[in-house]
Amino acid sequence: IVKASSFVAGTVSQYACQRRTTLNNYNKKFTDAFDILAENYEFRENEVSSLAFMRATSVMKCLPFTVVRMKDLEGLPCMGVRSNLLLYVQEIIEEGESSRVKDVLTDERYQSFKLFISVFGVGLKTSEKWYRMGFRTLEEVRADKTLKLSRMQKPGFLHYEDLVSCVSKGEADAVSLIVNNTVRTFLPDALVTITGGFRRGKKIGHDVDFLITSPGLQEEEEILHKVIDLWEKQGLLLYYDLVPSTFEQAKLPSRKVDAFDHFQKCFLILKLHQQRVDTSSSSTLKESDKAEVKDWKAIRVDLVVSPFEQYAYALLGWTGSRSSNLNNMIFLKAKSEEEIFAHLGLDYIDPWERNA
Ligand code: ATP
Ligand code: MN
Ligand code: MN
Repeated sequence: IVKASSFVAGTVSQYACQRRTTLNNYNKKFTDAFDILAENYEFRENEVSSLAFMRATSVMKCLPFTVVRMKDLEGLPCMGVRSNLLLYVQEIIEEGESSRVKDVLTDERYQSFKLFISVFGVGLKTSEKWYRMGFRTLEEVRADKTLKLSRMQKPGFLHYEDLVSCVSKGEADAVSLIVNNTVRTFLPDALVTITGGFRRGKKIGHDVDFLITSPGLQEEEEILHKVIDLWEKQGLLLYYDLVPSTFEQAKLPSRKVDAFDHFQKCFLILKLHQQRVDTSSSSTLKESDKAEVKDWKAIRVDLVVSPFEQYAYALLGWTGSRSSNLNNMIFLKAKSEEEIFAHLGLDYIDPWERNA
């Protein structure tokens, strides 16, 4: 930990992709508050304020010391002199917490939206609709049998408890084994890499993300179909949505190219069978009781397939974090993430430093 007085604020880049942000957050008190405010603004469709607070959170996360006085923020980017942001910081410094943030936490709209978006397949649009219909809890939504749930929302409610409880590193490793084994059945030389938060060193996640490629990948379109078919036969598939590659469209000159988001991918929910830890108690169960013990957990998994030449870009994009990501990238040949940063004239930032 660095002393605030010896820290040069001017060295903090205004670009998140150039800030080294590890998971050691010395300013959680502030960033938690900003996250809540940003989210509340998002729920109220005030995108400008939402973005301002998200940027401030991101900057404070990279500081190697805890902010204890207003002076500590001088010279930092994104600490919006225009907005009321600094007033919150002051309040938290002086009172230890912010009364306005506490108000948001007890706000009816905030609480309902928070609940609604915690369901897989529910976004702001649906939340808004349900809120206008007078719903305030998930029980109320569930109880309305006239409500038409989408193909995503159905498994979202069905596996709600499993999906809101975070994925542990152990569970991610177990899923990793399944993904590796299945993919290699069809593509023996495949490279299967865990991406997302787990690659950045997080110990928990809301899902497990994988990037798949192979040197001779010809039938890119085939591999995900094969994997899905097999898991379906094995009864492991609780939901899937296969999204085709949009690479051809992205190459058209008129298209705004998002170098990260044109790969073929599959969003799915897998049934992860859990090892029974306590064998003595389960073996004394009667056969009829055994059937009622749920020995699996529903886990959200994202699979992305990239051509071998695009692997570095795909890896960078799917490692995130969303705030750390570079956007509007141009395609240059790059074999590694290091080469991409170099092409762009940027300092290389390691995966575990991309938690902006
Ligand atoms: P969590 O622990 O919550 O899963 P995470 O950083 O892994 O955190 P994800 O939503 O799984 O978050 O996303 C991982 C990365 O994949 C993101 O940082 C983003 O760059 C990329 N990503 C996610 N969804 C998409 C998408 N639909 N299209 C393109 N890239 C995406
Ligand atoms: Mn993830
Ligand atoms: Mn994901």
